[in-house]
Amino acid sequence: MTPTCRACDRHVGLHRRGLCRTCHNLHAKTGTLHWFPPKPRTSRPAAARVQDFAELRGQGELRTVAAARIGVSTRTASRYAARIRKAAA
Ligand SMILES: [Zn+2]
Repeated sequence: MTPTCRACDRHVGLHRRGLCRTCHNLHAKTGTLHWFPPKPRTSRPAAARVQDFAELRGQGELRTVAAARIGVSTRTASRYAARIRKAAA
């Protein structure tokens, strides 16, 4: 399904802030972009996920289990582990 522009309701490719390029340009020009605030992020920021991961690992969870519980891949978890080791060093 094609997304719908929040301003003109046309089914178009969206540019930013849920607006099509035409509407985004228009509102940027007229200074009314703040009428369309960007959507808040749905996921926790990476720093918070690293913290959660460190906590779970501290509780003795396996890396793969900790990764699954915070909703990241094991590859990402490995990066988090490296980041934590680096921070601790
Ligand atoms: Zn539009």
